[in-house]
Amino acid sequence: MLVDKILDLLKQEIPQIEFERYIKQLSYDEEASRSDIAIFYAPNPLVARWVKTRYGDKLSHLFELKTGIKPQIVVEVKNSKKRVPVQQTSENSTDTGVSKNSSKSTILNPSYTFESFVVGSSNQFAYTAALRVAEKPGVQYNPLFIYGGAGLGKTHLLHAIGNFNLARNKQVIFTSLEQFMNQFTHHLRNGTMDRFRDKYRSCDILLLDDIQFLSRKEETQKELFHTFNELHGNGKQIVMTSDQHPKKIAGLEERLRSRFEWGLIVDIQPPELETKIAIIKKKCELNGIHIDNEIVNYIAANMGNNIREIEGIIIQLNAFANMMNQSITLEFAKNVVKNQIKERSENITIDDIVKVASRELNVKPSEIKSKSRSRKIVEARRIVIYLARSLTPNSMPSLAQYFGMKDHTAVSHAMKKINEMIDKDENFKAKIEELSHKITSATVE
Ligand code: ADP
Ligand code: MG
Repeated sequence: MLVDKILDLLKQEIPQIEFERYIKQLSYDEEASRSDIAIFYAPNPLVARWVKTRYGDKLSHLFELKTGIKPQIVVEVKNSKKRVPVQQTSENSTDTGVSKNSSKSTILNPSYTFESFVVGSSNQFAYTAALRVAEKPGVQYNPLFIYGGAGLGKTHLLHAIGNFNLARNKQVIFTSLEQFMNQFTHHLRNGTMDRFRDKYRSCDILLLDDIQFLSRKEETQKELFHTFNELHGNGKQIVMTSDQHPKKIAGLEERLRSRFEWGLIVDIQPPELETKIAIIKKKCELNGIHIDNEIVNYIAANMGNNIREIEGIIIQLNAFANMMNQSITLEFAKNVVKNQIKERSENITIDDIVKVASRELNVKPSEIKSKSRSRKIVEARRIVIYLARSLTPNSMPSLAQYFGMKDHTAVSHAMKKINEMIDKDENFKAKIEELSHKITSATVE
């Protein structure tokens, strides 16, 4: 069957463990699927969401390879009576989520609401600001800028604002900065910028996710600047998220940065233990999963702060319980948590490090890999080498090869320099630690 071939291809492209854990839980609805829409069932909303966000694009692409048609991928929860209304758009990435009746469900995740968001002191400020904005868009905090680390609920809050206002029939656009940029280049290339501008400048609420990717994208920044002015000038609401404060986004035009700071800037901090526990319980409740308190506490205390990762653990525990038809034991939970932590560090690649470090240190990835002797670049390159040695299993010779260096002595020289700097400069040490933390939390996105 076609779908088996597709899944075989997918299997070759993704980590085996992910395939076993998530993709194997899917079933395909052959009858309901058509060439332009592929429908899968997942055992619960968590798995459905996971597959859709992590593998939706990939699956769609693989179908296209085999059939020439790029289908929309739908992952529904098995036995859910409610059928996700299917959006009828041409499936090129140029169509955004302008939503008035038409495209509600596929763009905004209906389960990301204010009700399903657990409030604690770490996120209370962001939550309250988001709710205010949702209730009275364009009136007070405009723009609202939410920033914080990976998996802390920024995207969730954006969707919550969107869902709240869809119900009130407002014109809402949700888009990631990357999508915005892709659409922009697409329309530019095709000479259809009018359409792009009409779309973005006629909404009531613009929700822009992961704005940090604006870094050094000059053309996109220019376009966004005009979009911003038009919307803001007409009293339309803009909400943005980023992993950092606007001041810290490197390569951001000053005029945009200052506009981002016009309204309210709020951060989300990592959740305290009780909030983590409450979130886990909420997720279990929403997904009909039962886990003993003792185990909930264990997960909360031993996993990091990334809630997305914690959800991954819950999915695994639940999948295991279903498969073995038995309840989840503490011992098993401990194993799963341990493996997850180990796996995370095994999954970090030099490219991940280059990506994060170049963004944080304000140099281009290509410069890091180049032979440039400029001081700033040399230091960035040394830092990447140092981090690659400490965070990945790469040997010195293999690092030398990656950076096109003569041999491993160049790598060991770089290590020595960074170690010296760490020893004598507390600030430098803190910078390295922060980078290292950013890298380990970014790779699980
Ligand atoms: P971010 O955009 O900050 O990286 P997300 O909004 O994607 O993080 O959140 C990751 C996952 O964690 C989502 O499934 C989200 O529902 C969940 N989550 C994060 N914070 C909370 C919270 N306070 N209450 C409920 N769920 C949360
Ligand atoms: Mg996000």
